Amino acid sequence: IGPLAGKKAIVIGGSRGIGAALVKRFAREGAAVAFTYVSSPDRARELVAAVESEGGRAIALQADSADASALEGAIAEAARALGGLDVLVNNAGILIFGNADEYSLEDFDRMFAVNVRGVFVAAKAAANHLSRGGKIFVIGSNTAERAMLAGLTVYGTTKAAVARLVRGLALDFAPRGISVVNIQPGPTTTDMMPLDGPHVDWVRNQSPEKRIADPDEIARFVAYLARPESTYINGVSLTIDGGFMA
Ligand code: NDP
Repeated sequence: IGPLAGKKAIVIGGSRGIGAALVKRFAREGAAVAFTYVSSPDRARELVAAVESEGGRAIALQADSADASALEGAIAEAARALGGLDVLVNNAGILIFGNADEYSLEDFDRMFAVNVRGVFVAAKAAANHLSRGGKIFVIGSNTAERAMLAGLTVYGTTKAAVARLVRGLALDFAPRGISVVNIQPGPTTTDMMPLDGPHVDWVRNQSPEKRIADPDEIARFVAYLARPESTYINGVSLTIDGGFMA
């Protein structure tokens, strides 16, 4: 029995990285958790097994966030299997790095399909299942607020879009008693930001703490905000980046 006991949560994009940390953290704190993935069935299976080995409950559902009907279907299936939903975490996101002068429109559209349209589709679909007091979180990025590095133009723009999306959704869903919050991590060790990646030294040096976050640091923050005692936090972007933006 933990602080999220009895809660039912879905993490969109939960098979790896920050998403997998969210699934584990939520389950550890007592929630039953469904999560989606698109290309990593083995990682998804391993994660379900890891949660179950600790006595938790997790369900893996394959759904590409760029495919609205697949995503809506996964959310409906999660609500059916868990008996409702209390929390949606929209974590799925992709980074196609590249300077604007060489960036293809296919890549631009794919980035917006997953990072923005998918977030909108999931929020709309989940709102139909969330009870009053339900919570929607989006995992944005601190790149929404600072261009930081050439090559992040499109990625950062998708994250700026979700920061604005969350503010609007908070108003739209307020009559239904649902809050909507954007979490903006800074650099976090995952497949998207591997420790042997090209920008790691630059990123570490830019960071006041001279380090890159562990995914569980982000997951712990979201799990804390998902607790029943975390109230009156709505329509806002909260940055967790070790002072990177300071
Ligand atoms: P990873 O690339 O390590 O993991 C991405 C996760 O999202 C995987 O579970 C992946 O599933 C899933 N996913 C990707 N595309 C889709 C899709 N089309 N449909 C469904 N699921 C999908 O990324 P991170 O953990 O690093 O990033 C998670 C979120 O945090 C993203 O939104 C990212 O933008 C954001 N973020 C990350 C930072 C970092 O430094 N790592 C910093 C700031 C924000 P599958 O395994 O099936 O591919």
